[in-house]
Amino acid sequence: MKLPIYLDNNATTAVDPRVLETMLPYFTTQYGNAASRSHPFGWVAEEAVDYAREQVAQLIGAVKQEIVFTSGATEAANLAIKGVYEMYAGSGNHIITCVTEHKAVVDTCRHLEKKGAQVTWLPVNEQGLISIEALEAAITPQTILIAIMYANNETGVIQPVKEIGRIAKKHNVIYCCDATQAVGKIPVNVLEDDIDLMMFSAHKIYGPKGVGALYVRRKSPRVRLAAQIDGGGHERGMRSGTLNVPGIAGFGKACELCGEEMRTEGPRLAVLRDKLELGLLQLEASRLNGGGAPRLPHTVNISLNYLEGQTLIMGFAKKIALSSGSACTSASMEPSYVLKAMGIDDMLARNALRMGVGRFTTPEEIDFTIDTITRAVIAMREISPAWEAYKQGQ
Ligand SMILES: *Cc1c(COP(=O)(O)O)cnc(C)c1O
Repeated sequence: MKLPIYLDNNATTAVDPRVLETMLPYFTTQYGNAASRSHPFGWVAEEAVDYAREQVAQLIGAVKQEIVFTSGATEAANLAIKGVYEMYAGSGNHIITCVTEHKAVVDTCRHLEKKGAQVTWLPVNEQGLISIEALEAAITPQTILIAIMYANNETGVIQPVKEIGRIAKKHNVIYCCDATQAVGKIPVNVLEDDIDLMMFSAHKIYGPKGVGALYVRRKSPRVRLAAQIDGGGHERGMRSGTLNVPGIAGFGKACELCGEEMRTEGPRLAVLRDKLELGLLQLEASRLNGGGAPRLPHTVNISLNYLEGQTLIMGFAKKIALSSGSACTSASMEPSYVLKAMGIDDMLARNALRMGVGRFTTPEEIDFTIDTITRAVIAMREISPAWEAYKQGQ
């Protein structure tokens, strides 16, 4: 077993060797620009992009004309939300989203709020789920977009996507879904789920960083977007700029592999995750965040009470790579806004451990992790005044 152990697969994943192999020729011999129509270098690159587009579309039940390649899910979220807001300005200015969305969605909605958008921020219950009734009640004649994620990156909690899609359709509102954590891990189908716009990213599914996609529905309804990057009209005018051919080829391969292996990989990850979860929940004053809700098979979020989270993580940071909140906020000492929105108090939110098992995680690594964290918690509690007070109060 090699240290450190990587359990931060919700932040990013290793590139699968089969993905890397697929990408390599597009760096070395097949380095053409996919937009070059006048020679074989360009044709080969375009063919690679076309093939990858098919692979990506197939994983989510779309057709290739509905895939717009971007630099990742963050860019796709910006294109989707700002693109709808500008394109449908004549129909209304109201957006419904949720307080536990990824920053890619939260900050984009905040940006539009400053520009005059009306934004409804739906709360979540203690399990991290929105209320379908509250969602439907929030819809007004001005509503143009519902942006609710598929599954949360910190807790793995899966929203009632099918019902959200159904309500959006019933009220003729566009449904945009951030499925970055769900795609490739569980079956996601844009037709069955009535999703109109959907972002996802290669580096969360064993592909390279810097490439992602926005699914844009072409039929019933045909969704139109105002471009956010101009210059050359690539990607049917929605996203200009020379395509990242090696990245896109790798993204395609990563999607193909997920499609082929999901049915066996999902249960394998769930076994590892459950083992990790049960092992850590043996600790006194521990809490499973998002427990009771439907969850992704690879994510677990556990809070340990009566100690300080950041120092806890630092106690084994050289051995185990994990995060205390979303990667984007873990540089600061601020407790996770996702956990706080679920009504989890400050102390517990600060002492949260978010772990994501992945394709390359082994059972031995899980055993080592449980053992190491357990020892660290017990040792830290021995010198924790909060723990002493708790014990005396018992
Ligand atoms: C990682 C992540 C993103 C951002 O994706 P990038 O491709 O890194 O921009 C957005 N949403 C969720 C849920 C994520 O997990």
